[in-house]
Amino acid sequence: MQFHLNGFRTGDPSICEPSEHAEPRKADASLPPQADVVIVGCGPAGLTLAAQLSAFPQIKTVIVDQKHGPLMVGQADGIACRTMEMFQAFGFAERVVKEAYWVNETVFWKPDVTDPRKIARSGRIQDVEDGLSEFPHVILNQARVHDFYLETMRNSPTRLEPYYARCLQDVSIAEEGEFPVSLQFETLADSQDGVVETVRANYVVGCDGARSTVRKALGLELHGDSANQAWGVMDVLAVTDFPDIRFKTVIHSANEGNVLIIPREGGYMVRLYIELEKLSKNRRLDSQNISTDKLVAAANRIIHPYRLDVSEIAWWSVYEIGQRLCDRFDNADTGGPAVDHPRAFIAGDACHTHSPKAGQGMNVSMGDSFNLGWKLASVLSGKCTPDILQTYSTERQAIARELIDFDREFAKMFSAPPKTAEIQSADTVDPAEFQKYFTRHGRFTAGTAFRYQPSIVSGTGRHQDLAKGFTVGMRFHSAPAIRLADAKPVHLGHTVEADGRWRLFAFADTDNPADPSSATHRLCDFLANDAESPVRRYTPHSADIDSVIDTRAVFQQGHRDLELASLPQFLLPAKGRHGLIDYEKMFCADLKGRGDIFDMRDIDRQRGCIVVVRPDQQVSGVLPLNAYAELSEFFYGFMIPAL
Ligand code: FAD
Repeated sequence: MQFHLNGFRTGDPSICEPSEHAEPRKADASLPPQADVVIVGCGPAGLTLAAQLSAFPQIKTVIVDQKHGPLMVGQADGIACRTMEMFQAFGFAERVVKEAYWVNETVFWKPDVTDPRKIARSGRIQDVEDGLSEFPHVILNQARVHDFYLETMRNSPTRLEPYYARCLQDVSIAEEGEFPVSLQFETLADSQDGVVETVRANYVVGCDGARSTVRKALGLELHGDSANQAWGVMDVLAVTDFPDIRFKTVIHSANEGNVLIIPREGGYMVRLYIELEKLSKNRRLDSQNISTDKLVAAANRIIHPYRLDVSEIAWWSVYEIGQRLCDRFDNADTGGPAVDHPRAFIAGDACHTHSPKAGQGMNVSMGDSFNLGWKLASVLSGKCTPDILQTYSTERQAIARELIDFDREFAKMFSAPPKTAEIQSADTVDPAEFQKYFTRHGRFTAGTAFRYQPSIVSGTGRHQDLAKGFTVGMRFHSAPAIRLADAKPVHLGHTVEADGRWRLFAFADTDNPADPSSATHRLCDFLANDAESPVRRYTPHSADIDSVIDTRAVFQQGHRDLELASLPQFLLPAKGRHGLIDYEKMFCADLKGRGDIFDMRDIDRQRGCIVVVRPDQQVSGVLPLNAYAELSEFFYGFMIPAL
């Protein structure tokens, strides 16, 4: 973590200095009449977006929820490895790692072959394959995830806070003019019940859940399964003799149904998902007929011969869900007035819903708005053309479609009755097959298998052979490195923070980078001095040289074999009010302990390469070290030259 760049400050360095636009909010404050972005909904999608936008002092963001305050209990709890990587960019992954339950192994139980009325353990697998991510798959209450985002927003330069107790009633979008989006909110607070407030905005993002008002106002629909699945879900403190209660466990009983056990943070609590009946189209479950007693009794029948005595129920719900998806996630081509670029977006459950079995809902929702956040920020701060906003719907709709297809298959296998010696009908599934399917799709559920198609912000992979482990279109798969200036073992990917900046990682060839004729040195000369350099072209004269595109270099030599002062000055930039030197741009392979990044990511040692990484940690391109024109052309496609 770097701080004191613009002068010494005491206190917690994670609390940013407030910008001149940040104003303390009065408790009864009305919504402001205008904003750059209005976010509807304080769920994981809305808060990820708000936390991202809160880092930009010039952008006026308003986030609104109909609830009277933050979420306290319940809802989702699974956090995939990829999401942890994103949390790292926001600065709170370590706190989640400390507090959460780690899903290291998953256990499977099925009917006992000798007595199918009983269950017996049928398998145990490692949950996440080795080396998939530097972060574990974890479980933590959604409300705590919200807390971390809310804290990030509060500590940001804009001191962003949600407006609660306002229900969005309507959205309309004018064809042209400033602030073309108009939103009407009804106040739900006792003191002002029923008052309608209007906010005009440049953009609206509907993160307002499965029954999204924004989606309906845009004329978009969720399409999908005609039948909903209902789940009884309970967070309980219980005494049990079931031996795998502290493992994520999938139990298929012969005739009593299925249960999914998710151990929870803190060491004692456990979540039980009990599958209820399948519902026909438009039929809602009669929740009146479901009680916690019935759910506990069902769980006990499924886990027979073991017992579960529930002492306390922290939260429970009947969660009805079908796999559904919108055709697009923005207001382009929705049959309304012609739009030059989208002004309205939907994210999260507003545009796709999933069964809780594969634990994707919250993760993919946050992934949506992490994709959108930097794009909105770049357009609003005049760095990029609005064309990039079109890529949000294209990229995320494709991911959601893939995920829904997977979820449908996964859920079907999960719910099917187990194949036994006695029962062999076509609708049964061999639990061993289910276990294999679960293992095979581990990268998918970890969120690391997604790949964006080529677009103006994502390249084609023409030079992919230079670094096969940094797949273009996929997330930057971090690996260890040693920071040259102070020999600190770090993770290279952790240099990519949620600050809207692009990264260029120059992986050097075998030459000594101090040699002015080496490819790395010449690349640095180009980036520092050439009129066509994207770093020069898009960085305002008054700003630090890394404020738009941040370049880092990784060398093959050991950190004791290189002399800092003889390396390109471009990698030791003078920054900030005092012109202080940034010593954190250069890294060396970790030759002693945790693995050599060049081997781990299959980087061509003879030729080296440049890896271009988007602000949302996705790899946009892999290029030869001397591909100056190709590099410039890539950014030329969507960036606006700085004044
Ligand atoms: P949400 O988290 O649904 O957030 C939407 C927000 O928008 C809410 O805060 C809502 O109050 C607000 N909002 C909605 N309409 C308006 C309006 N008109 N005006 C203002 N604000 C509005 N997933 C699991 O994996 N396991 C579970 O057990 C599970 N249980 C769930 C239980 C419930 C009751 C719900 C609602 C969801 C549950 N989920 C569960 C799903 C999971 O929580 C979601 O996939 C995830 O929260 C999606 O995030 P989101 O931000 O898109 O939407």
